[in-house]
Amino acid sequence: MEYGIYINGWREKKELMEVKNPYDGGVVGKVGVADEEDIKEALEVAKDAFGRWRKVPAYKRSEILYRVSSIIDERKEELAKTITLEGGKPIRYSRIEVARAVETFRFSAEEAKRIGGEYVPMDASPAGEGRKGFYFRVPAGVVVAITPFNFPLNLVAHKLGPSIAAGNTVILKPASATPLTSALLLEIFLKAGLPSDVITLLFGGGERVGMPLVESEIPRVVSFTGSRDVGKKIAKRAGLKRLLLELGSNSGVILDEGIEPEKVVKRLAVGAFAHAGQICISVQRIVVHESIYSEFLEAFVEEAKRLPAGDPMDENTVVGPMISERERDRVIEWVEEAKKMGAKEEIPLKVEGNVIGPVVLTEVPEEARVWKDEVFAPVVSVVPFRKFEEAIKILNNSSYGLNAGIYTPRVDHMLMAVEEVETGGVIINDYSTFRVDHMPYGGVKESGLGREGIKYAIEELTEIRFVSLMP
Ligand code: NAP
Repeated sequence: MEYGIYINGWREKKELMEVKNPYDGGVVGKVGVADEEDIKEALEVAKDAFGRWRKVPAYKRSEILYRVSSIIDERKEELAKTITLEGGKPIRYSRIEVARAVETFRFSAEEAKRIGGEYVPMDASPAGEGRKGFYFRVPAGVVVAITPFNFPLNLVAHKLGPSIAAGNTVILKPASATPLTSALLLEIFLKAGLPSDVITLLFGGGERVGMPLVESEIPRVVSFTGSRDVGKKIAKRAGLKRLLLELGSNSGVILDEGIEPEKVVKRLAVGAFAHAGQICISVQRIVVHESIYSEFLEAFVEEAKRLPAGDPMDENTVVGPMISERERDRVIEWVEEAKKMGAKEEIPLKVEGNVIGPVVLTEVPEEARVWKDEVFAPVVSVVPFRKFEEAIKILNNSSYGLNAGIYTPRVDHMLMAVEEVETGGVIINDYSTFRVDHMPYGGVKESGLGREGIKYAIEELTEIRFVSLMP
């Protein structure tokens, strides 16, 4: 597969970037790298196209999105294989990602027709007497979308679906590790009848291609999904524009007294180790009531050892490779650091190529990076607690706050968790990794700003236009 960049048409580039298979290092494809002139032109094209696209009626935008959803469904196996080849995601999970993208675009098609407003009772104030007030939503303008490697289809869908539904134009800069899925998706949009200048696709490094887009005065919104550190850089340099930042986490799960370990270990092992833990809401910290701690730990370690690790194209694989050697080495360093600080390894670190076997740690000090930072790898720390309040404190003692999973049979504890846990989502009686694509999704603290989940993303991608009407 070889692609140039796309600015109102495909354009060949001399400078190419290789896309490598994270499992075996083979070259999967090549993409062109955008230069300064391309970036300037992309911004102008998106601005110009917005003037036309914003006037296209909702039902037509919706029809295009429905078609995108069905073409993805028709081409599901090709898309799943591409995700696995470039992103190293085990094929069984790539298939799930594609099925989710089918839904994300279907939800976007539905929401395109529901972007409404509200009546404002102006006569609540004497100064408003005799007026009718209402607001409706208008598209914000040009959206810059910057996306990560770990869901190269569905997280791009969460940018393009709501943006297109709302009537915005988009410049997409996907992760350099996984650009091919975005190229396929753009082809699908064009086939579905999207005008040729509504989405622009640029490839190249984050600082070189992403940041000039972020800093430009043309876009009205930067919608970013990726790491906290890059999110912070974007927030510093974006200037006066709307920011939607979907960042990382070190998600935690509480297992309360009364939970039967054997009923939850399978699900938690998948939540922790699937796609090598490279999911923003992967289970990273498990806080277990002392009455079930030993039983849980034993069963969890057994389950983790059983998980098939290796070739992501193998139908059985659960734990695939880390995205790069650099990431693999970072994880090894973090695990070694935790061990030096006193952590105990319940499963010894096993590394083959870029594949790291599941790691379970206990007695992990709070200062260890595997605990306090986002490990984004198949590494889990397990700690015991006595009182439920204490477990919530442990979860909240984090600079992040995306999703938390709370397993408890007690209604008072469910309610306490709902009130006290500091995360964007509190998932009762399931793992933190749970997400469906239409729920409001996003973080507090350093996990980000704003919410995705189509309807909620559309709120971030539109402006309120208020009207006061006095005949
Ligand atoms: P990343 O390193 O932050 O990269 C994300 C995107 O930002 C890539 O397209 C990257 O381009 C670009 N980028 C890098 N430096 C940039 C800069 N200075 N200016 C502008 N853009 C820049 O993240 P990743 O490793 O791909 O993904 C993993 C992270 O994403 C984890 O922290 C994970 O938790 C987070 N994530 C969050 C969510 C969520 O919904 N909250 C979902 C999935 C993932 P290059 O690839 O060219 O460097």
